[in-house]
Amino acid sequence: MSKFFWVVVALLVLMLGVHYVRKHAKPAAAMLPYSGSALAWPLDCYKGEACLNHIGYPDVKKSGNDFKCDPVDIRGHEGSDLSITQSAMEHGVNVFAAAEGTVQWVFDGKYDQCPSDHPDCRMPGGMAPDMNEGGRVCTPLGQYCREGQGQCFWCFDGGNVVVILHDSSTGVFATRYDHLKRGSIRVKPGEHVRQGQVIAQVGSAGHSTGPHLHFEIWKSTFYDPYDPWPGQCNAADKRLWPYPDGGATR
Ligand SMILES: [Zn+2]
Repeated sequence: MSKFFWVVVALLVLMLGVHYVRKHAKPAAAMLPYSGSALAWPLDCYKGEACLNHIGYPDVKKSGNDFKCDPVDIRGHEGSDLSITQSAMEHGVNVFAAAEGTVQWVFDGKYDQCPSDHPDCRMPGGMAPDMNEGGRVCTPLGQYCREGQGQCFWCFDGGNVVVILHDSSTGVFATRYDHLKRGSIRVKPGEHVRQGQVIAQVGSAGHSTGPHLHFEIWKSTFYDPYDPWPGQCNAADKRLWPYPDGGATR
């Protein structure tokens, strides 16, 4: 046998070995998105930066306390309020899709500098399918029930709003983005979005006291709010949302 033959055999064995490793390696590492977690930080403004001035944490359990057992700003709040400065909003702060998915609903066109006495900042009394009144926007009636059967609709008080549905592999059913800047929304219903893709900019539309992104996670079905912040008072999955108190750093 020539040396050449054995070199070829060795190469073949090596290639098969590589193939075997690839085929049988756990896909987790390869499938992790660029952020290293299922949900990317949804805002182009990070912990320690001048643009980010406050985070209002969720109180999904309605205990009055956040994940680190501190009192929340708004009892029973279902999302994270990522507040930015007025000047940052005017300059433009991008909102990112937290995970890959398909855009479900888009509402745009509302005045975005609430609070003010502009009619778009007022909250109407009722709710109805397709309602679009003051800062409240409602979906049509459809198969949007939590139980997955029958016809339901949902209303959002965020004026300009995007809701994205995610693949079940992400571990999250949907994410919701409220109070967006008028005319800044770059996506349409049915559109596929990548994780980290710019979908809009932060505004202060609807029921809002100042420029902020209301970011809400629906864990397993429509309007199923989930508190993603892991801490002493909240047993959340750190792989989903690894960000500490104060949010993500750049
Ligand atoms: Zn909020």
